[in-house]
Amino acid sequence: MLIVMEEKATQEQMDEVVRTIHSFSYGCHVIPGQKGWVVGVTGNGKGKHRLQVLECLPGVERVVPISSPYKLASLETKKEKTFLKVSDVVIGNGRLVVMAGPCSVEDETQLMETARAVKEAGASILRGGAFKPRTSPYAFQGLGEEGLKLLAKARSHFGLPVVTEVLDQQDVDLVASYADILQVGARNVQNFALLKKVGRVRKPVLLKRGMMTSLEEYLMSAEYVLAEGNRDVILCERGIRTFETATRNTLDLSAIPVLKEKTHLPIIVDPSHAAGNWKYVPPLSLAAVAVGADGLIIEVHPWPEKALSDGPQSLKPDQFRRLMEDIRQMAKWMGREV
Ligand code: PEP
Ligand code: MN
Repeated sequence: MLIVMEEKATQEQMDEVVRTIHSFSYGCHVIPGQKGWVVGVTGNGKGKHRLQVLECLPGVERVVPISSPYKLASLETKKEKTFLKVSDVVIGNGRLVVMAGPCSVEDETQLMETARAVKEAGASILRGGAFKPRTSPYAFQGLGEEGLKLLAKARSHFGLPVVTEVLDQQDVDLVASYADILQVGARNVQNFALLKKVGRVRKPVLLKRGMMTSLEEYLMSAEYVLAEGNRDVILCERGIRTFETATRNTLDLSAIPVLKEKTHLPIIVDPSHAAGNWKYVPPLSLAAVAVGADGLIIEVHPWPEKALSDGPQSLKPDQFRRLMEDIRQMAKWMGREV
């Protein structure tokens, strides 16, 4: 249920609505809208029909049932697109945001070299993993806090905000103390304890779609973060697992227009993990711009042949620079800016 307040409803009227909802054993979230407040009712209290009486309270315009199981992520609840600010970068306001950097932070030279190159080429956010989710326990697991320190150093040197993955609930506060955006990776998309934990942090969350997650399940995962009070969620399509083996995953580009119809959250595309091969990254990036993505996250490494993770899908700096030029052209053609 959604309680739409009149445009000139007062704070006292709002408080009364919230009190009444609680008295029916439901929870609620107050969401500011362009034309006044809306209150999203959550939980499984007894007697949904009783909520209809809220329509009698002063200041309430109407009570609307919501059909989607994700309430806060739904476009039914909030018609205006969510945009969020990370330092002076705005994500979701129409401008295309490019995040780029290595898969893993490996050492200072590698990170600084990559940060300089992606900044020069026009990326506005630096990516890099300090805690890495690897299929093999014997593969490089990331530098941990040392990697976070290097990311913070690169940020202060180049003025790029940083996005980095958090793998485990117990590391959330540590990662949040260094990162500008917390990435929850594909493998953790249904780690509900982790989702709740990042939902309680005051940092934007980049939530990747799982490789076997339907769009409805994906939005339910976003709902976990929103329901804890963190409204700054960025979705990311990064390829799903299909019968096709020619690419690492299959980039589900149709997810972008479909999600845009269902949610107000910004959606970016990761062509690197979808393709698994640097050669396919440029065409997939341009296709993502064409289908209306709010941004891209791309892996770049100065020496991909020496990379400790995901070398085969990483662009070299000069390839990334050329791709940025093409992205600008494509964005222009779509009536957008980078
Ligand atoms: C990554 O960004 O390096 C990563 C591991 O991504 P994903 O969770 O999409 O596999
Ligand atoms: Mn990677």
